Amino acid sequence: MASCDQPGLMPLTEGIRKLLATVSGQQRSETVSLCAAANRVLAESVFAPAPVPGFDNSAMDGYAVRAADMALGKTFTVQGRALAGAVFDQRLKAGQVVRIMTGAALPRGADTVIIQENSQRDGDRVRFSELASLGTNVRAAGGDIQQGSRVISANTRLNAVHLALLASVGCAAVNVYGKTTVGLISTGDELTLPGETLAYGDIYNSNAPALIQMLSNLNVDIIDYGIVQDDPELFRQAFGRADRECDFVLTSGGVSVGEADYTRDILQELGNIEFWKLAIKPGKPFAFGQLPNSYFIGLPGNPVSALVTFHLLGSQAIRQHQHLGYQPMAQLTAITSEPIHKTPGRMDFQRGSWQSSAEGISVAPTRSAQGSNILTSLAHANCYIALEQERGSVKVGEAVTLWLFDDLY
Ligand code: AMP
Ligand code: MG
Repeated sequence: MASCDQPGLMPLTEGIRKLLATVSGQQRSETVSLCAAANRVLAESVFAPAPVPGFDNSAMDGYAVRAADMALGKTFTVQGRALAGAVFDQRLKAGQVVRIMTGAALPRGADTVIIQENSQRDGDRVRFSELASLGTNVRAAGGDIQQGSRVISANTRLNAVHLALLASVGCAAVNVYGKTTVGLISTGDELTLPGETLAYGDIYNSNAPALIQMLSNLNVDIIDYGIVQDDPELFRQAFGRADRECDFVLTSGGVSVGEADYTRDILQELGNIEFWKLAIKPGKPFAFGQLPNSYFIGLPGNPVSALVTFHLLGSQAIRQHQHLGYQPMAQLTAITSEPIHKTPGRMDFQRGSWQSSAEGISVAPTRSAQGSNILTSLAHANCYIALEQERGSVKVGEAVTLWLFDDLY
């Protein structure tokens, strides 16, 4: 189609640049308990109030000794024992050792731990068959985290390991950014909810469940405004309400140039369009703009276009609002094992499946028909075959760049 190759279309990189420049980070922050902080984004760096570990302790089960005291075959008195959480509270003198377990604080005067496998015990007497150099099997105070050091930087999304780290320094609550709220609007007279009877000519709303899942993976609060019929007044009401209640208004459908496509007009009427139409396939009619209180992401209705443009663009806008910045997908070069049809003019994101073998990395499109309505092409894919804007068809054996799926789907 001639319209596919319009010279005025904005390249993807330019669209992403505009979008990142437009969206500012969430201002609101709140303090939440550590157990409610998973997947939230830290609003300020956390510094260690104390070192971790907080004291020299044993890395093994054995005997706490003074290295300078040691000699093979010499007999020592076992003066007592130190367990994790149960401190041996005397100073070790010459000729004495203390039975010690992993995690127990090293008694004062001790500087080394000899593992129990190298000891012969007889009542309260012990001898050692192997010696250890000074400091062996001792975990030094501050060996993991030094007092006052930065434990986690602001603008980090907290994962399981971060939570453990915060707990290890005794942090019970953290200051995180307020959650981004996204309002989802599915436009189209033809849309029907799964479970309802489908009239002839209608289709099920498949974009909403996929987008809700992708939004969940971004850990946003979602308001699903459901299906809005193709009527400018209903669009006006729905966009206005979502704008008042959300940080982002996310629509699917109605953004092209058909007779029932009102998304763009109503966006322009209520706010402004930052850009509309990108030099990408699928997803050309993607729109991005602002309403009085929110950012507007207008996805095309075709299922593949909607999901791919949300992946490439919409999710990045939301990440920007979450202070996480642009996260490109990992890229890989592969050899195509099938020919790929392409016309120059737009950057293509064909759905591919890549695999690695002794010969290297190969990729093939998941379906030879890569239409933006062919949802199965996406379902069976593990990457996009990203074909440069001015590139034409690709022959078997040519190198192509893959954008590997991240954890958004
Ligand atoms: P539109 O962007 O509204 O012109 O829609 C383009 C194509 O996508 C049409 O075939 C629509 O029926 C289809 N479509 C629009 N919205 C959805 C949706 N939520 N789920 C599945 N298909 C949709
Ligand atoms: Mg429509």
